[in-house]
Amino acid sequence: MKFIADGMLGKLARWLRMLGQDVEYFNQLEDAELMAKAKKEHRVLLTRDLELYQRATAKNIDAFYVEGKTEAEKLAELAKRFGIPLQIDLKLSRCPKCNTQIEETPKDELAGKVKEKTFRYYNEFWECPKCGSIYWQGAHWGRIRATLKEAEENLEKTKPT
Ligand SMILES: [Zn+2]
Repeated sequence: MKFIADGMLGKLARWLRMLGQDVEYFNQLEDAELMAKAKKEHRVLLTRDLELYQRATAKNIDAFYVEGKTEAEKLAELAKRFGIPLQIDLKLSRCPKCNTQIEETPKDELAGKVKEKTFRYYNEFWECPKCGSIYWQGAHWGRIRATLKEAEENLEKTKPT
């Protein structure tokens, strides 16, 4: 499953990439270009624009109308519709910035590339081979887990009991 997100869903695109999904995102594409790209690359168009959603489906382009207000709500909707696991496995994660699969990188190769304190504190690092961004499970990881937990709870609520 591959996706393309409209200009209003940049944050969601980054979340989905972290969850390992292949998501193209452009913030300045015209609707027609978004639809053409979705069709050509067999990507599901994710949009917050009901009119665009309707135009796309009328043209037989796979589209999903994202309604949720918070990221947790949006992620729950996508998990429900597409069966996306709401857990980050960094072995499968894509770079939130550029959608390239990140690679685990031996710590000693990163000396001088990350702040000294970070380098001292953490042992596992991942690097994006395309844009060079470096990732680790730092202090922000608690917030990431909390959002995913909230998404999981939202998803549970939608299941029949
Ligand atoms: Zn990257």
